[in-house]
Amino acid sequence: MTEFFAETALLPEGWADRVAITVDTHGDIISVRSQADPEPDSVLLRCCVPGMANLHSHSFQRAMAGLTERRGPGSDSFWSWRQLMYAFNERLTPDHVEAIAGWVQVEMLEAGFTSVGEFHYLHHAPDGSPYDDPAEMAARICAASARTGIALTLLPVFYRWAGFDCQSPSEGQRRFLNDPDSYAELHTASARHVARLDHANIGIAPHSLRAADLADIDAIRPLAKAGPVHIHIAEQVREVEDCLASTGARPVRHLLDNQPVDATWCLVHATHMDASETRDLARSGAVAGLCPLTEANLGDGLFPAVDYLAEGGVIGIGSDSHIRIDLAEEIRLLEYGQRLTRRERNVLAGAGQSTGRRLFEASLSGGGRALQHRQGQLSPGMRADLVELDTHHPGLTGRRGDALLDSWLFCGERSLVRSVHVGGRECVREGRALARETMDKAWRTTLSDILEAV
Ligand SMILES: [Zn+2]
Repeated sequence: MTEFFAETALLPEGWADRVAITVDTHGDIISVRSQADPEPDSVLLRCCVPGMANLHSHSFQRAMAGLTERRGPGSDSFWSWRQLMYAFNERLTPDHVEAIAGWVQVEMLEAGFTSVGEFHYLHHAPDGSPYDDPAEMAARICAASARTGIALTLLPVFYRWAGFDCQSPSEGQRRFLNDPDSYAELHTASARHVARLDHANIGIAPHSLRAADLADIDAIRPLAKAGPVHIHIAEQVREVEDCLASTGARPVRHLLDNQPVDATWCLVHATHMDASETRDLARSGAVAGLCPLTEANLGDGLFPAVDYLAEGGVIGIGSDSHIRIDLAEEIRLLEYGQRLTRRERNVLAGAGQSTGRRLFEASLSGGGRALQHRQGQLSPGMRADLVELDTHHPGLTGRRGDALLDSWLFCGERSLVRSVHVGGRECVREGRALARETMDKAWRTTLSDILEAV
């Protein structure tokens, strides 16, 4: 048993001081008391908030961040970015994938993310043939997570088609491809690797309505059992147009009408929705997985956050392509996108509410739901995912309560995160992940390997 003692902490009922959090040997919180006194061996924390789920990650894309910011001959778009991404992933070996995932997880932990939903689609060898272990790449992501300590939801991706109406896939997609039978084998093999990890689970991820037909989704859905189902949806206008042309419906409408979308589902992006889709997605209980930095970088568009939240919709945050990994910045951009288009301030908070607190708590509960992890609250029965903010940092000077969150999320960055525990296990100390040195070395070797071949 371990006892943590925080000078101040964000509890479900609000801010409290002198908070003792007792954690059992499995890493679960067994009691939380405020106005307590520290024990001699308590782990002392300054300001403690719950750890955040990063609900959407393609870790290998971190290695190409910053390499696609040069304009091509015509107008650049998501689709031209995707061509570069395909060319890049041709070079990646299992060793590379493990090293990149490890580094990405280090950066996530240092930002205050304590779990990650890895939407994993790079399954096969470069020629498209499966590895001897069809889940070789999944095993490498699990290995990274065992080293860094981040809690993992592995989401093996089902990818079969290049576009609506079962268009044949391109050569650049061959490392991703499965039919429902080979996917079932991949999923079973992946589940075996996940079962060896603490704090890990597995779901399914039909890539998108472009890459998975409704009949495919029906075929693979039983594999999820009660686990999470994640899908990319309505990220791009062209995707909406193609879906309309093929099915007569927009993507979110098509999915809601043809799949049992409920609280076990996470719809990633859901950027382009009309008013009725926004309302019905909110009412379904599914999580809208928002990735503001990636969506901005790829020029996707703005999620209708005001209407969706007004309907009681659930949101969570992901860093997706990892153009940058910073929890505070994701939340900041979610709000700033709305401010810039509406020419108002504090758009996503209720009257009298702190915007930082509102968006932080919404993302905590939606993120935990999307990954089906017991995280997002400092209360008994939850996993002890503890993020310590450094109240001695100049950026938090004189702040109390919600102002701590607002100052971190709107004015601060990763350097305000002082320590991170996942399931009671220390993963970040003095702002640096314990796995940082090892992962940094492997990352540098990997990058020089990959980039040499460019
Ligand atoms: Zn994605």
